[in-house]
Amino acid sequence: MRVVRRSDELRLLLEERRRKGLTVGLVPTMGALHAGHLSLVRRARHLSDVVVVSVFVNPKQFGEGEDFEHYPRDSEGDLELLRGERTDIAFLPSVENMYPPGATVEVTAGPIGDVYEGADRPGHFNGVCTVVAKLFNIVEPDLAVFGQKDAQQAAVMKRLVKDLDFAIDLVVAPIVRESDGLALSSRNVYLTAEQRNQALALSRSLELGRDAYTQSGDCQLTEKTMLQYLQDAEGVDVSYAGVVDPDSFDAPQPSGRILLIVAGRVGKTRLIDNLVVEAADGGGG
Ligand code: AMP
Repeated sequence: MRVVRRSDELRLLLEERRRKGLTVGLVPTMGALHAGHLSLVRRARHLSDVVVVSVFVNPKQFGEGEDFEHYPRDSEGDLELLRGERTDIAFLPSVENMYPPGATVEVTAGPIGDVYEGADRPGHFNGVCTVVAKLFNIVEPDLAVFGQKDAQQAAVMKRLVKDLDFAIDLVVAPIVRESDGLALSSRNVYLTAEQRNQALALSRSLELGRDAYTQSGDCQLTEKTMLQYLQDAEGVDVSYAGVVDPDSFDAPQPSGRILLIVAGRVGKTRLIDNLVVEAADGGGG
């Protein structure tokens, strides 16, 4: 595995690979890697000849008062895990390399970036769009793999590819969970044992939401069920519980898949989770 820290070096390396006709798969991450990230790397390994994993804690996607400074960082541990997955290139740029002094142009997500996660974290999705557009331009991958764990981010990435004409296949891989249902997240390391237990309310609220939808087909009732459960749950400061169209994050279509989304703070740690429900599961679509 090559460890590359500069974008110009990465471009040269990839040019060489592409000249040989090899396809390139990109997995963007912020590091502190866990089994969820590794499932994306495996997917990229399966689908492409050359696997590039970027590890970059992107300052632009953190708001004021968020955890940029304290975000877990473990590059040695990350590199070991990436070697174990037969990653070809680990790209670990510095902030200065990604955002040289004087850089001003940014990519904006538009309305889909202003609701739910975007409403709670103003500017977050613009930061994500900007860094991912840069990574797409540096790596020029044939495909990029994102996780369903960050469902709204995946939806924004689909818009980014479409709206800015990136010729990249976007692959969204399923959420990897602990055996008790907690979605893996780099931020789970912040949780105490008690908070870890309280955090289970998120995945449980989604299961209750799915049951409510299956029985009633009623999106409002489903939303209310999840919200009520989270409001009653000990140790959870709920941010939102919603039922949305998985692509637009608007109100769901009368028929088609729906997405249940929840977010909340457990202690100081903000956690998100989601669950796709097929319309066929629902009583009334
Ligand atoms: P992050 O390092 O948090 O920016 O995540 C990098 C990528 O890994 C994103 O596409 C996430 O959606 C994905 N990811 C994070 N956690 C999980 C998980 N539990 N299961 C699947 N993918 C995940």
